[in-house]
Amino acid sequence: MRLANANQRENHPVPGGAPLFQRVFTRLGCDGRPPRFRVEFYAYSSLVLTIRRREEMIYVRFSDLLRRAPRPVLEGAAALLLGRVYRRKAPRSLVEPYLEYARSDRTRARMNRMRGGRVRLAAANPRGEFFDLEKLFEDLNGKYFGGELQRPRIGWSSKNWRRQFGCYDPGPNQILLNRRMDRARVPQCAVEYVLFHEMLHVKHPTRRSGCSLVSHSKEFRAEEKRFAEFDRARRVLDRLAR
Ligand SMILES: [Zn+2]
Repeated sequence: MRLANANQRENHPVPGGAPLFQRVFTRLGCDGRPPRFRVEFYAYSSLVLTIRRREEMIYVRFSDLLRRAPRPVLEGAAALLLGRVYRRKAPRSLVEPYLEYARSDRTRARMNRMRGGRVRLAAANPRGEFFDLEKLFEDLNGKYFGGELQRPRIGWSSKNWRRQFGCYDPGPNQILLNRRMDRARVPQCAVEYVLFHEMLHVKHPTRRSGCSLVSHSKEFRAEEKRFAEFDRARRVLDRLAR
């Protein structure tokens, strides 16, 4: 997936960003002369925070998802970043508001919305050389979901991926399968199984449980086993992964 409008991205200074970092710098007891800080919001489509030290200057970028975040959240983010650069363990109490914010359902929902708008969808073609994913979707939908699952966009990835067989991105509501699997020697059950797995992600959206995000819940795993050729498909994927 490519990011759209890369050249239209603008940076905006974080109001009060530099003094905020100075304060946190002092609170963490970082060594040496305090540097100067330049703190900006940047149009990341996820909650990415970056920090870069160049001589006397420290450049920080917050995702603009944090634009409306309350001050303690920004302080927590600052503590994490400075902790990284100065090898200080930031106190839990300082970091917690940021972690809370990052994990909250509202933040995740905003992140998904933003990604939906920002990520240009590579014209994902469901029809590969050997497997037609829309056709497979319809079959699986009928067989395992009573035909009730709303069809997201589906397609083959534009490149071979090294790490994943498939992925479901709720932002653009799109399932992509690794085009490495669109080959004659790959049995159809393996492609179906990966697609089925991603379809289960459509059915069971990632949710919060305590402090962690659950994407493969117990129910998810149980339902996954209903796939008729589960064991065979897993064996094939193990082989392909090597
Ligand atoms: Zn999964």
